[in-house]
Amino acid sequence: MISQLARTIKASPTLKLNEAAAKLREKGEPVIHLGGGEPKSKAPLDAILNCATQLNTGEIRYAPADGLPAMKKAVIRYTEEYYDRKVGPEHVVVSSGAKQSIMTLLYTILEPKDEVIFPAPYWVSYPEMVKLAGGVPVAVVPEDGTFQPTLREIEETIGQYTKAIILNSPNNPSGVVYSREFVAGVVELCERHNLWLVMDDLYNRLVFDGTVVPNACQFARDLGESSKLVVVQGVSKMYAMTGFRIGWAIANKQVCEAMANIQSHQTSGPVTVSQWAAIGALSGVQNSIESLRLTLENNRNVLVDRLRTIAGVNVTKPSGTFYCFPDFSAYSFDSQKLAEFLLERVRVVTVPGKEFGMEGRLRISFCGTIKDIMDGVERIKWALDPAAPNELFLGDRKLVRDWQ
Ligand code: PMP
Repeated sequence: MISQLARTIKASPTLKLNEAAAKLREKGEPVIHLGGGEPKSKAPLDAILNCATQLNTGEIRYAPADGLPAMKKAVIRYTEEYYDRKVGPEHVVVSSGAKQSIMTLLYTILEPKDEVIFPAPYWVSYPEMVKLAGGVPVAVVPEDGTFQPTLREIEETIGQYTKAIILNSPNNPSGVVYSREFVAGVVELCERHNLWLVMDDLYNRLVFDGTVVPNACQFARDLGESSKLVVVQGVSKMYAMTGFRIGWAIANKQVCEAMANIQSHQTSGPVTVSQWAAIGALSGVQNSIESLRLTLENNRNVLVDRLRTIAGVNVTKPSGTFYCFPDFSAYSFDSQKLAEFLLERVRVVTVPGKEFGMEGRLRISFCGTIKDIMDGVERIKWALDPAAPNELFLGDRKLVRDWQ
């Protein structure tokens, strides 16, 4: 009934979990959602005001396929300030979320069966997006059990069909920021092997402990019209504007033209009012990012401290994002089963590590409230740790532990 291509594409596990959690909540179940991928803070006031002004005109028209000129201007300023790089409007494509930027880019650069390499753990959508664009996803799992492969591991994966490498740092789901040496090395590898390098920088201002995120553009030999370095950014995470659906790519002119052509037939330009909101966010007062960052840093500290009280759970402290990717293999290697068990028994939503290319782990988000983080981990600990007391109260409901 459905096409061969459609049959190879899985549903987004995070969106599926949101639905499952919402259904349980509707039934009055006390669900704690530690699986989410969006900050709970409000969009910046400048974003709302700019968007409302536009809405009030009542004239909401099509935008150019690659973004409003004013949005491109805001992106150009942003790129100069945060990437120390001067680009022109012909190097910017604004999309309906960073997701569309990556997808359109893959359509633009891939031939059928071209391979795209990315380190594991990886964002769940990369394999599916590569497949949608006719390519073959190739994950590189670090042998040493860390979250950053060696340059040798990356280079050994490069073959005659390799077309691109995607790096996401800070990384969803591990929270790891790749080292300067690693990023510089991958830039060099891509230049030497004539590969595209896609930097998915969506979380790069949400970092902790003074971590500096290496900027790939600084290591490139040439950022001219033949450059194959593409930077993807967006307002979803750092400005807490997930629902506005605005992201963008910075790439060479030829690629941008092709991406604009594709978007013109796919979605047309991104929603005009959303672009005005993004312009407000990028051009307005920037303090919402710092307050979100501080909240997340505090949340991370609480989450990591609590997780470390669960015997056998191994936690790498995230340097950025709002995700943590602890190792629960002492309890179960089957992350899908473990996540289902936690939802069923103690109503805590986590995302199975399998979806990110690593078994035995769960992705736990710390973008929610401190109370949810503390109660959620307490429930997980109670469900897993055989030394935990026999009973737990969820509100006024008493749970009795009748499993080993
Ligand atoms: N890249 C990464 C690593 C992400 O985590 C996400 C969102 N979960 C995206 C890209 C897409 O972001 P959006 O489409 O909301 O801008």
